[in-house]
Amino acid sequence: MLSDLQNLMELQVADKEILRLREEVAALPKRVAVIEEKLAATKAKLEKAKAAAKADEASRKKYESTIQDLQSKISKYRDQSLDVKTNEQYKALMHEIQFAEQDIRANEDKILDLMVNAEARDKDVKAAEAELKAETAEIEKEKAEARERTAEDEKQLAEWGGKRDKLRTGVDPDTLRHYERVMKFRGSGLSEVRDQKCMACRVMLRPQTYNDVRAGNRIIECESCQRILYFNPENEATIERTNYTTTRRARPKLDSQQAWFYHPAYPEIGEAFLAFVNGSTNSTRRVYELHTGRQLGDIVEREGSFRLAFPEDLNGVIRLNGNWDEEEIDGWGAELPMVVLDALTSDLAAARAESRHSSHAAAPEAASTGHPAAS
Ligand SMILES: [Zn+2]
Repeated sequence: MLSDLQNLMELQVADKEILRLREEVAALPKRVAVIEEKLAATKAKLEKAKAAAKADEASRKKYESTIQDLQSKISKYRDQSLDVKTNEQYKALMHEIQFAEQDIRANEDKILDLMVNAEARDKDVKAAEAELKAETAEIEKEKAEARERTAEDEKQLAEWGGKRDKLRTGVDPDTLRHYERVMKFRGSGLSEVRDQKCMACRVMLRPQTYNDVRAGNRIIECESCQRILYFNPENEATIERTNYTTTRRARPKLDSQQAWFYHPAYPEIGEAFLAFVNGSTNSTRRVYELHTGRQLGDIVEREGSFRLAFPEDLNGVIRLNGNWDEEEIDGWGAELPMVVLDALTSDLAAARAESRHSSHAAAPEAASTGHPAAS
């Protein structure tokens, strides 16, 4: 492999780690700020509870002094009553005394209310104080952790920064510029190629490009995402082994209620995956673009099982393995999930490899019917 490419791969590791560390360092004060905000809210709550208790206390004092005033008024009336001359005057004084006594009772009731309330107020204050104490302890802990983590991160950042600078000098300047430009826009500047696909943007490479990447003699960019492509023989070997050697390709069941096909030239689309699902009286068809897995057009429903309902779609197709719950398929929305797309793509590759193999063996019929005696 080119030394530029080797250095870029190491550089990408360093760049990703630097990015992660920087993000972490930036996120730490934000976490502290969130708790600080909570702390301020609790402080305000405590102040409010304390102010309410203080206001109640003031009201109680006011009522008590009103009662005292009324009591002195009553004793004054009683003194006056000893000197009155007429029955009317006496009655009038008694009336005043009655009024004052009523007033005293009203004030006493208010004091009683406040006393009942005071318990609740006290509880509010104590709860807010406890909350504040817990949060203060928490924030001190968070702050200490954040300081420690930041120091550790800064240390690692310095180390990675040194490695990064060294690696950068080992890459051709034009290549480096390109890598950094793509990295800035897409978060990564390199992409592995596996199974003839750019693993970052999932676009299929042209065979010539694929071969060039595998050879690793020059820098090659993905035509779709512009990332610099590299090939890791270890990963590819695993896929090839799983697909073609160790495991025999499972044969799709003929009578299953769901069937997936590869269509080499679907009208207006080209290469496509088709999914048919039989219902009790109807069947449905979904069409997906081969490379991206995007669903194209609406789900079409017709009467009868799919073999009778969609005969025009079944010419020249390759039957694939695939069976997912219809509800799950609906849940995918407008695009096949990557695992599904990968499963279909590798099953297609396996089916093709198998058909190549069986045509060499010149016994395609025996192979495709899967007669037990033949295997
Ligand atoms: Zn790409």
